[in-house]
Amino acid sequence: MLEPVETANGSHEGWARMEALWSTALPALRQHMGERNFAAWIEPITCRMVDGELRLEVPSRFFQSWVTRHFLPTIHDTLSSLAGAPCTVRVVVAAEGNGVPRPAPDAPAPEPTVPARPARVANIGRLIPSYTFESFVVGPSNDVAFRTAQAVSEAPGVRYNPMFLHGGVGLGKTHLINAIGHEILRRRARARVAVLSSESFMNTLIAALRKDQMNAFREKFRQVDALILDDVQFLAGKERTQEEFFHTFNALHEAQKQIVLTSDKAPADIRGLEQRLRSRFEGGLMAEIHPPTREMRAAILRAKSRAQQVELSDQVLELFVQRGGNSVRELEGALNRALALALVRGTGVTTEVALAALGPYARVRSVSVETVQEMVSDRFGVTIADLVSHRREREVSYPRQIAMYLSRTVAEASFPTIAEKFGGRDHTTVMYAVKTIETRRARDLGVDQLLSGFEGALRDR
Ligand code: ADP
Ligand code: MG
Repeated sequence: MLEPVETANGSHEGWARMEALWSTALPALRQHMGERNFAAWIEPITCRMVDGELRLEVPSRFFQSWVTRHFLPTIHDTLSSLAGAPCTVRVVVAAEGNGVPRPAPDAPAPEPTVPARPARVANIGRLIPSYTFESFVVGPSNDVAFRTAQAVSEAPGVRYNPMFLHGGVGLGKTHLINAIGHEILRRRARARVAVLSSESFMNTLIAALRKDQMNAFREKFRQVDALILDDVQFLAGKERTQEEFFHTFNALHEAQKQIVLTSDKAPADIRGLEQRLRSRFEGGLMAEIHPPTREMRAAILRAKSRAQQVELSDQVLELFVQRGGNSVRELEGALNRALALALVRGTGVTTEVALAALGPYARVRSVSVETVQEMVSDRFGVTIADLVSHRREREVSYPRQIAMYLSRTVAEASFPTIAEKFGGRDHTTVMYAVKTIETRRARDLGVDQLLSGFEGALRDR
């Protein structure tokens, strides 16, 4: 059984973080049981911590017996291995109030909990409360997207219509579009905002078709002031949905209502997307979001840990920045695992806890200067002989500086060693090269990405 750990904020915070174990376990469970089972049986579960046990709340008795029979052992093992101690896990039916502590018979009824601020509610779909502009860390990889999103929420439908936001998984697209929704509603409480995934758009459409309620469907979507649709790459190949969406799009666009779309790819790269939709998508403002730079990764980690009243040491922060993965989602996952681990082990987030939480990312492999040289020479198409030569042309001096930088930061070789392995130069030359690349990296997103690519490739060999 897990012991509730009293934190500075009282046990409530402690429970909340224990429950974070559950979200931490989700990726592993997904991988283990496959997408279908995961979506059907795991996603609908809510996890609560009650009396030192993790209670998995499910919607029905049937669900309860199915999950218990088929998945409980896996769930139990996954949670226990994350916690570093055996966990007590029970599957309960939510409707029966099993998970909710009941007041003693003569105790006064608990006050209903009132949120500090009235939650802003979307007309269609649901806004995630924590995904706001304030909680979004801005830097060179996402500032264009951020500023566009702000402009859109200040004057919906006026400029940038549609706004098409694209970029890789876990980089903040869903966060930003929720922020747009919040901000539109903050400025005009009566605005009608729809924010939903393309999948729910399709499901709503299918339900309407089945029930012969297409008029109601059209009316519902065409009277909003802003339609925010997440992950439109999902519509690829879904002809009927694309067709209906096309008409919705046109109706809203003509009425100068704001449309915001996200996708993991640019419109031109979504295969199975009708040409007419593609050209509509491309007709507005396209903003791309890139993986965060090193500095942003550090800032994000600091912000997320402070939000949980945890201050990370520089050493731990550096570990996460270096090895926590490239997307914000991966970083957050690693951090949450560390926080949960620290809690169940009753320690702070020590280097050891961080390494355990980083799991496979943290495998420390030694990288040699020679490996760095090989990889850099390959990538830039210069020979190793040139790399270690004293030639000063930019085609060789730039790759050389990059290779020196990586020899220092990834291979962790000393300045004199690097100097020697690069044709016996003075070690101050190496120091200068490392400094130069460091400065460029901080300023230039392209350089940062190039280096992140090398770092990933060197560590994953
Ligand atoms: P996407 O939709 O692009 O796959 P999400 O918006 O779901 O990514 O982001 C993944 C997680 O990372 C979310 O928890 C989100 O809050 C967080 N996140 C992403 N970018 C940032 C950022 N710049 N600042 C703070 N949190 C971020
Ligand atoms: Mg998303």
